[in-house]
Amino acid sequence: MNRALNFNAGPAALPEAVLKEAEKNWLNINGSNMAIMELSHRSKEYDAIHNKAIALLRKLLSIPENYEVLFIQGGASLQFSMVPMNLLLEGSTANYISTGSWSEKALKEAVKVGKAAAISSSKGENFKFIPQFDASAVTEDASYLHITSNNTIYGTQWQKFPVLENVPLIADMSSDILSRPINVENFDLIYAGAQKNLGPSGVTVVIMKKDLLERSNDSLPTMLNYNTYAKNNSLYNTPPTLAIYLLSLVLEWAEQQGGVEVIEKINNEKSDVLYQAIDESEGFYIGHAENTSRSKMNVTFNLKDEETSKKFLQKAKEAGFIGLNGHRSIGGCRASIYNAVPMEHVYQLAEFMKSFRKGN
Ligand code: PMP
Repeated sequence: MNRALNFNAGPAALPEAVLKEAEKNWLNINGSNMAIMELSHRSKEYDAIHNKAIALLRKLLSIPENYEVLFIQGGASLQFSMVPMNLLLEGSTANYISTGSWSEKALKEAVKVGKAAAISSSKGENFKFIPQFDASAVTEDASYLHITSNNTIYGTQWQKFPVLENVPLIADMSSDILSRPINVENFDLIYAGAQKNLGPSGVTVVIMKKDLLERSNDSLPTMLNYNTYAKNNSLYNTPPTLAIYLLSLVLEWAEQQGGVEVIEKINNEKSDVLYQAIDESEGFYIGHAENTSRSKMNVTFNLKDEETSKKFLQKAKEAGFIGLNGHRSIGGCRASIYNAVPMEHVYQLAEFMKSFRKGN
């Protein structure tokens, strides 16, 4: 079967091996004669899948015992609200570093909950870079500092994370979790919608330090309180069982690849190929991100004018490339090259970019 040249930003390409494994088990999961969606979420068969996903994530990211791994619905967007609802303490300020539309949306929700402010932003320069972190900008009454590790729309990525002494660090890692090794202990809470590097949409992974659970107030709605998920192994209500099953398969695949260290090397090579195509083009392709902030997951670029960009996208579409349009909010072009996008597809895109340049 010929797989599509899929450069979608999310939902995005999944590993072919994962889809085949799911297909193989579609009608009969683990000898149950039932599909995964037909199992009770209280059954031992489902429990094994659920716990395997948690164990694999713990292993792949070396998540210490004093962290919870939670599965929550509502997308990363619900975390924009849950984070301040649970962690923004009265009389203190939530600090945000604004590096793109998703950070701005996160801040917008925090402002509805309490005192929250951006302590640093690259908005004035069209989010072309990740601002240099300045610890002295963190307010004295900071409840936490929130960052977006990879900016899916603008194609920028934190290369070196802030290190803080007494202020919890929260990261939205929706578009680069599992793409590179991270030291979980440098963070207090990490969240990520699954639909880029982890699986299908429908489940959001939250990795949080157990100590932080003390902050959640009992008066919060049950489903918006992290304690509900932590106390019940994310099984207080019916979890998205199919999404979690596919997550477990993606994690198994990541382990078979050799884990995040190996995956990072492949991602470096993939992104190098595309950035090289941009850099060699002598201004034909204009990268959006400044070199030091370039994302290895979302490569964003423009052509000299809108007309040429449009032509490029049209020709790319005719050649079978999917999802190269920039986000509707900024336009231009974007190639999302998450873990599951095969190296060959990236080489094909670089070749296409070269031949389009020659012809134009
Ligand atoms: N944060 C980032 C960095 C994202 O890329 C996205 C989605 N593209 C979101 C948050 C929102 O995720 P969701 O659609 O799961 O709510």
